[in-house]
Amino acid sequence: MRYLIARFSLAVLLVGVGASANSQVLKNLGAAPIIAGVQLQCEGANSYVAHISDIALGRPGKMYFRPDYFSLPPYMQWFIYAHECAHQLVGSSEAAADCWAMKLGRNQGFFPLQAVQQICSYTFSSPGDWTHFPSPIRCQQMKLCYSSMP
Ligand SMILES: [Zn+2]
Repeated sequence: MRYLIARFSLAVLLVGVGASANSQVLKNLGAAPIIAGVQLQCEGANSYVAHISDIALGRPGKMYFRPDYFSLPPYMQWFIYAHECAHQLVGSSEAAADCWAMKLGRNQGFFPLQAVQQICSYTFSSPGDWTHFPSPIRCQQMKLCYSSMP
């Protein structure tokens, strides 16, 4: 009996360790998902609802969103979608993805000026990590992108 319990625990552990975003997919939203009431598209990339550790994750041709993403304020949902979309185009740089997302949102009328502050204050209360700058610096750069041309 002890042996069986040990085997069961090990199996669970292996599933946890080996799980990729793919195996955690809850729903396929397709290439033109409705995000906060607006149909969005990103270079044909497919969107999925998935159990992942971050709020969202971009991979070539695929974008993953955690279930709680869909309860964020609309500006945040659009910004995060645009940010993950940007990774499809500008590569893995977080600063470049932020900048691209802010300009796209501005140019397409998604982000009025007050949205910028909301996005800044809402998202980045984190102290920063290897890829994401601490909040004030990241916000400052996003505001610079928003106000720069084109
Ligand atoms: Zn990113």
